[in-house]
Amino acid sequence: MPRFQAVLFDFFGTLTCAVQRGSAHRTTAELLGCPPEVLVNVLNRTYYQRATGALGTAEATLRWVCAQAGVRPSTEALRSAVIARFRAIRADTRLRTEAVPTLAALRQRGLRIGLVSDCTHELPALLPQLPIDPLLDVRVLSVQFGRCKPDPELYRAACRHLGLTPATCLYVGDGGSQELTGAERAGLHAVRLAAPDLAGHLTFNPDTGWTGPELTSLADVVDLIDRADADSGSPGATGPAAHRQPAEVSIG
Ligand SMILES: [Mg+2]
Repeated sequence: MPRFQAVLFDFFGTLTCAVQRGSAHRTTAELLGCPPEVLVNVLNRTYYQRATGALGTAEATLRWVCAQAGVRPSTEALRSAVIARFRAIRADTRLRTEAVPTLAALRQRGLRIGLVSDCTHELPALLPQLPIDPLLDVRVLSVQFGRCKPDPELYRAACRHLGLTPATCLYVGDGGSQELTGAERAGLHAVRLAAPDLAGHLTFNPDTGWTGPELTSLADVVDLIDRADADSGSPGATGPAAHRQPAEVSIG
């Protein structure tokens, strides 16, 4: 592997522990007057439509979901359900204990850090509350960007914002949305996080055919970077990435 200048991370299942819909999602269904299994079925089969942001705001998207599920909640109930859904997703989202130390160790080595995530409206609202947020140099979120993985443009947009060529960037993900083959198609190097907890992870369109490199712990990314530095004969760390302003990438 070459010497990398940035690492781009997936969010759910990569920087977070494996995700499963918790009991708090029942509140959303109750507020909408929708059987929970019907709501889950619609949410699962419409994930990519919702994650491109094409259905509008969180409220408009949930209204559309309700129509798909055959329920017509009042505007008041719908707004309460949007809040309940945000809380349910926040409750499902637990950063891995290695997330902050890993990102901090990479920054200390002078690497830039990016987040490239397929997500619905909740993640952009939740992200500023998370301790990884100040460690990110660029965020490309599908619901804002208007495209989902494995579209190469997501990864390339992150690289462009960092002023880096894709070949100097490493992508790390659990493989949802065929993100690893997508990253390679965009010209990045990719590695799969195959952490033990991911067996029960809620995921769509997985990269089942991936035969590339794998890590079993997020913390192993730091070793991979150090080995790549050693292989390339580089002295490694270039010093802390001080005073860099995070960049936002939105619909473009
Ligand atoms: Mg993932």
